[in-house]
Amino acid sequence: MIVFAFDRDLTVDVNKGPIPLAWVRWLASTANEVWAVGNQRLKAEAGIPGVEEMRIRLGIPKKAARTRARRTRYVSSKRLKFLAQMAAIPEPDKRTWNVNSKIKRLKMLAQIFPDAELRIVVDDYDLSHAGGWKYYTPAEFVAVWGPRIKEALPFVAIGGAR
Ligand SMILES: [Mg+2]
Repeated sequence: MIVFAFDRDLTVDVNKGPIPLAWVRWLASTANEVWAVGNQRLKAEAGIPGVEEMRIRLGIPKKAARTRARRTRYVSSKRLKFLAQMAAIPEPDKRTWNVNSKIKRLKMLAQIFPDAELRIVVDDYDLSHAGGWKYYTPAEFVAVWGPRIKEALPFVAIGGAR
């Protein structure tokens, strides 16, 4: 069994990517595991699980529940001052934040499927440093996996019908 982790934006054709959504949907219909690690809209579009399902599998509480718990906590004036100081520290840029959160998601997935014969991640961001994962850019994935998928799905053209 292979684990496929797909990003959405600039990766799949629902948002300017080269990979047909039909490919993702078809892969999900095989005996392999196909998960959404980027924009979670891909879950509904491709009919695949994503971050929430990872948390459920690993018994990690929902993000909403954790945020709510944090929000209701009493905040002292001293702490408020501290938080204001913290806010002055520049936040990491969106790309870094995105890559870091995806690495976390990939770690969760690897934890869920420790015995997978192969783990493949496809993203327009470079995730080649993700340990235990084979990384493809969307274009590389089309070049390497496209012919195999098209053989099974001859009616799907690159960037074409969904
Ligand atoms: Mg993307």
